[in-house]
Amino acid sequence: MSERKRIYVAYAGGTIGMKATETGYAPVPGHLAEQIRDRPQLHMGEIPELSICEYEPLLDSANARPADWLRIARDLAQHRHHYDGFVVLHGTDTMAYTASALAFLLRGLGKPVVVTGSQIPLGVLRSDGRQNLLTSLLVAARDDVREVCLVFGSHILRGCRAVKASASGFEAFTSPNLPPLGKAGVQIEVDESRLRLPEPAAVGLPMTLDAPVNLLRLYPGMPASLLRAALAEPTRGLILEAYGAGTVSAADPELLAALAEGAARGVVVGVVSQCVDGRVDLSAYATSAPLLEAGAVGGLDMTTEAAYAKLVVLLSEGRTPDEIRSLFAQDLAGELTPAA
Ligand code: ASP
Repeated sequence: MSERKRIYVAYAGGTIGMKATETGYAPVPGHLAEQIRDRPQLHMGEIPELSICEYEPLLDSANARPADWLRIARDLAQHRHHYDGFVVLHGTDTMAYTASALAFLLRGLGKPVVVTGSQIPLGVLRSDGRQNLLTSLLVAARDDVREVCLVFGSHILRGCRAVKASASGFEAFTSPNLPPLGKAGVQIEVDESRLRLPEPAAVGLPMTLDAPVNLLRLYPGMPASLLRAALAEPTRGLILEAYGAGTVSAADPELLAALAEGAARGVVVGVVSQCVDGRVDLSAYATSAPLLEAGAVGGLDMTTEAAYAKLVVLLSEGRTPDEIRSLFAQDLAGELTPAA
């Protein structure tokens, strides 16, 4: 008989372990562990053995910062030789950012990392938390998964491709530019052909994760002062959510001047699309030309969340702007589909 797998469960916060308070749901220390302990279904023979580590403080993920991503990555990396897989329990609001960041930070971990949470706390009768946790534990126990996944409802998604698409549905996440890695229905089905192949085992984490990166969504009539502020000291990176294939208001001389100033300061500008589906191609329209002139790089079909996390990680690794520009457009963790 094969040995029962051991899964490390890091509870970082989020609705799954929250309780109702006077001001609304908030995480309460000890509550999640109690809920898990009192549910016999979570400890049955076919479910892997789990150890829970509750973080202090527990966060509503709206309060998460890049330093919190690094904390999770460090924790998992430190335990990598003692567990078969990892589950990160996290709030849904910024889960896609954290899952993306973990995918970049934990390249080479070689074990499954599953990020999940719930829309209703585990302690509430109609909670989706029990199912999400069970599916996550089973995915985290698989030998063929060696990447960061986001499991929610029936979806098993690549973490760095996921976006939160619903504030209230139980199927809260999708991955617009990549089919799901699998589906949790009567059976848990993972399409092995979609999984990442093993990478050389080595995890090198940056000392800190605090590179100043901004995120700006372009809109018709946006004053150039906003872009100028987004590129000003101490900014080192900017993710610009441009239109369609990566177009900007190229007829606005102030906007072009702001871009040129940012470029002169060496700010790395990554361009993603406001469209949920499709990809950035900065060579398609003349209205993208000022971006190319300013050294901006197209993020292809990356989500905004993945692009932001990627730029923060790359800048925190102490690389040169040119190196970062080149890596930004390369596939590092399955976050983008390279040009054919
Ligand atoms: N505000 C909560 C959080 O992101 C929402 C959730 O967990 O679903 O922590």
